[in-house]
Amino acid sequence: MPVETHLFRCRSDNFGVLIRDTATGAVAAIDAPETSTVEAALHAKGWKLTDILVTHHHADHTDGIADLKKKYQCRVVAPRAEAAKIALVDETVREGDKVRVGNLEANVIETPGHTSGHITFWFHGDKIAFAGDTLFSIGCGRVIEGTMEMMWDSLKKLRDLPGDTKVYCGHEYTLANIKFAQTIEPDNKALIARAAQAAKQVAAGEPTIPTTLDEEKAANVFLRADVASVAAAVGLAGRSPAEVFAEIRTRKNKF
Ligand code: ZN
Ligand code: FE
Repeated sequence: MPVETHLFRCRSDNFGVLIRDTATGAVAAIDAPETSTVEAALHAKGWKLTDILVTHHHADHTDGIADLKKKYQCRVVAPRAEAAKIALVDETVREGDKVRVGNLEANVIETPGHTSGHITFWFHGDKIAFAGDTLFSIGCGRVIEGTMEMMWDSLKKLRDLPGDTKVYCGHEYTLANIKFAQTIEPDNKALIARAAQAAKQVAAGEPTIPTTLDEEKAANVFLRADVASVAAAVGLAGRSPAEVFAEIRTRKNKF
């Protein structure tokens, strides 16, 4: 595969990630959580930044843009609906647009809910999705600017991507997410297996991502709001998946 990725931790619990097209040497940072760690990651790999692909406007995803752009003259691609809130945007994109990083190509998928203009970059040829703060491993982002229904629709869009798609997200929240998910699905075997795997990964100092959509569909309760046993477990048997999702998300906020 002509693609390489480099994942690193930054700030308190953010992930940064670089994706590189080996054919052209083009390198994109997915979000720019902070300048220093993105630069350190570039130096560690000997890569030169050509693009920043922004998922949403929050500071922990955009703080590094201005300095990185000054140093690397890289292109900044951001969601059209949030461009006014993001520094130094060169190109705005929306649903259905394509973004190239060298010869690699990503489809832009609008995934609103956490913020109203949040987007996901799906590198379809490489089956890699950068989901920002929409989908986490065994969790999902807080619904801050959008509605519960909007977030559920966004998660369904991601769930519909090929099952072997690798998912990168914006934060290392997996262990806390598992603890919560087990309050609703204590007997879910995929979740039990994921709990053991993630505990091992964290103990070894390794990240718990990327994950795959197949793994998430089996173990992530937020993607399972339309499973009858999940609806029943939160006392909403027979109700709409969006209502069940809203109940799960509301419980997580208080957990
Ligand atoms: Zn955010
Ligand atoms: Fe974030």
